Amino acid sequence: MAKVNQAPLKTKPPKLNKNFSIPALLSQIRKDFNKIPDHRISTPKFSLPDVLMSGLAIFGLKYRSLLDFDQKRNKERVRANLRDLYGVIQAPCDTQLRTVLDEVSPADLCTPFISIHHRLLSQDLLKNYEYLGAILVSADGTGQFSSFKVNCPKCCQKNHHNGEIEYYHQLLVASIVHPDKSQVLPLFPEPITYQDGATKNDCESNASKRLLPKIRDAFPDQKIIILQDSLAGNGPHLNLLKNLGFSYIIGVQPGDHQSLFEEVKTRLCAGKVEEFEERGEDGILRSYRFVNEVPLNKTHPDILVNFLDYREVRKDGKEYHFSWITDIHLVKTNVCLVMRGGRTRWKIENENINTLKNQDYHLEHNYGHGKKHLATIFAMLMLLAFLVDQVQELCCDLFKAARQECRSRISLWETVRGLFAGFFVGCWENLWLVIIYGSKGGVLQPDTS
Ligand SMILES: [Zn+2]
Repeated sequence: MAKVNQAPLKTKPPKLNKNFSIPALLSQIRKDFNKIPDHRISTPKFSLPDVLMSGLAIFGLKYRSLLDFDQKRNKERVRANLRDLYGVIQAPCDTQLRTVLDEVSPADLCTPFISIHHRLLSQDLLKNYEYLGAILVSADGTGQFSSFKVNCPKCCQKNHHNGEIEYYHQLLVASIVHPDKSQVLPLFPEPITYQDGATKNDCESNASKRLLPKIRDAFPDQKIIILQDSLAGNGPHLNLLKNLGFSYIIGVQPGDHQSLFEEVKTRLCAGKVEEFEERGEDGILRSYRFVNEVPLNKTHPDILVNFLDYREVRKDGKEYHFSWITDIHLVKTNVCLVMRGGRTRWKIENENINTLKNQDYHLEHNYGHGKKHLATIFAMLMLLAFLVDQVQELCCDLFKAARQECRSRISLWETVRGLFAGFFVGCWENLWLVIIYGSKGGVLQPDTS
């Protein structure tokens, strides 16, 4: 078995974070997986936690296909690494993995997400994410799967003019974000899939109604500002946010909120809208207009919202224009903060979702569709692997050093997969040390079989 080399290094190696290194996080996840009920009737060959951890390993190591993982699974070194790094006693083949995961309820997979966030909260590590006296939670819908052939009873359907039916799944992902931080921490997702007994397709708005109470249940005392897009700027949704004790910053557009924009225009003409502009050291000209307590629309004149309109002109002449509604009382000294908070949602939509789709996580890749929950369970395991990586990037110096050594995330995971498949790694600490220092940092035992 691999052991850390005793030869002294020139510089002291960074430490694994006790609570937020990958072994600590995987151990917490395994504890939560142990509590998930296993509904199989006959005595199973593979335990449910082993199957779930194998699924997590596939996304943690960023394998492009289940087959790729399956072909390596029976090599002695890979079996040993799965046991030593992921705690998998016996890994299932790809067919067994799909069959077992298809039966797992997505609701049960929320627990490890919540446990990790409770751990971050208990160690005060989310203090750095505080913004406007709360935590910003961005809720974004994203496509996860679509096909004209492959489908399951949980698929939503779109009927095209040419008679073809498109099948799809989407996911509403709620994540903790901060304007100045590149790490995004997914809370947990809500599947946008066919709901039992429904006569229509599920949609982002309905998924929001299910997701928000779950967030409040999981974090009962946490001050939270929800960031959403124009779809959420309607009366019933704002009432739901208020009843759950959430603040909000919601993007709005004239096309979706005609009477609101007209009312702001009327108040502007009457000189009742505050406005100012300033040129920053970056040369950007920023213009703000804001007014408090405007009726949301004619259907809900009793719901009063605070309205912020923002324009910026950059040095190259490019112009950007955004508007939001919020329950935060707007004054000259906080509109810049509200603007930056509101824009974080847009930034996340571009950066976070792109990372999940186009970099190393392959969110839209079809790992298998199943008949019940498989597609959703795969997406949730992928998101859980993403959370583990983001927490390590934030908290674990040893991981950060390994990541820096490999320069890009893609190169880091290529290196990890190569070592995982080629050597007996022994433990995560050894793996990171070898990546940082080469053979001086740790020892990897090659497979001589
Ligand atoms: Zn489906």
